Amino acid sequence: MAGLTSAIYAVRAGRSVLVLEREGIGGQIATSPKVENYPAAASISGAELSDRLFEQATALGAELDFGNVQKLEKTEEGFVATTEDGEFSAKSVIIASGVHHRKLGVAREEELAGRGVSYCAVCDGAFFRGKRVGVVGGGNTALSAAVFLAGIASEVYLIHRRDEFRAEKYLAEQVKKIDNIHVTTPATVEALLGEEHLSGVRLNNGEELSLDGLFVCIGKVPDNGAFAALADLTEDGFLDAGEDCRTKTDGLFVAGDCRKKEIRQLTTAAADGSVAALAACDYLNRIS
Ligand code: NAP
Repeated sequence: MAGLTSAIYAVRAGRSVLVLEREGIGGQIATSPKVENYPAAASISGAELSDRLFEQATALGAELDFGNVQKLEKTEEGFVATTEDGEFSAKSVIIASGVHHRKLGVAREEELAGRGVSYCAVCDGAFFRGKRVGVVGGGNTALSAAVFLAGIASEVYLIHRRDEFRAEKYLAEQVKKIDNIHVTTPATVEALLGEEHLSGVRLNNGEELSLDGLFVCIGKVPDNGAFAALADLTEDGFLDAGEDCRTKTDGLFVAGDCRKKEIRQLTTAAADGSVAALAACDYLNRIS
């Protein structure tokens, strides 16, 4: 959201824009089953919202290339970003690197990823039609996933470490009304069971749940190491820039969830995208 919004603002200001995308277009919202809190879009899937954003940005003239930026350097002419496919240069750069799924941190999690353990209900939910699944987490992502999966799986166990959910009240109320969602709190996953494929989990209270799938939705963590030479990082790895989205390096800006901030929502990502793009355009006007 932040990156493509930046692109929309910058191309409309007459600049040529290349968006470097590492995963899926639109960022994490692309995997959200349903978005109901984006102004003027009462209910839309994250995938459709992302498609619309992409179409809007590219129709205006933004270009898109896939690649994971492994290094960003400042040069006399501006910046050079290195991906696995080569080098890309630009006079100004907006980092909108988003965040990654947080892992549970239990034994065999990596081995069972894709074999019953998933981090994305929209991507993998269809594999669990009529089966028993668990969802771990108590935020908007976990509760949206539980609601989405309740329409596919036979039983959904919502496993959360506290009795209260941090998700919106509206979602928490919805979850309580769905018969095949079993709220399992307070509980944490202590062990993943099964050989070739997940067959269940053991909880910290000793209970074993027999499950075909486990969706881990316990928040997101940043991955900004590639930018550490040019922008300060907070202790937990977010890029340290204020509401003006400027970093300590002239011409380098930061937008969206990867930035240190209080509220990470689609609306704040879009807001950052526009602020960063306008700041970058102002910078380019000043140096030319
Ligand atoms: P989140 O709000 O940070 O929630 C993460 C949840 O996982 C929390 O309930 C947390 O428990 C739990 N958790 C964290 N670490 C854990 C661990 N090691 N073991 C077990 N549980 C753990 O993350 P999110 O749900 O991914 O949402 C991220 C941001 O995106 C939020 O700002 C959210 O509002 C936003 N979002 C918005 C939408 C939308 O607007 N449509 C949709 C999805 C997400 P505690 O509560 O005990 O800390």
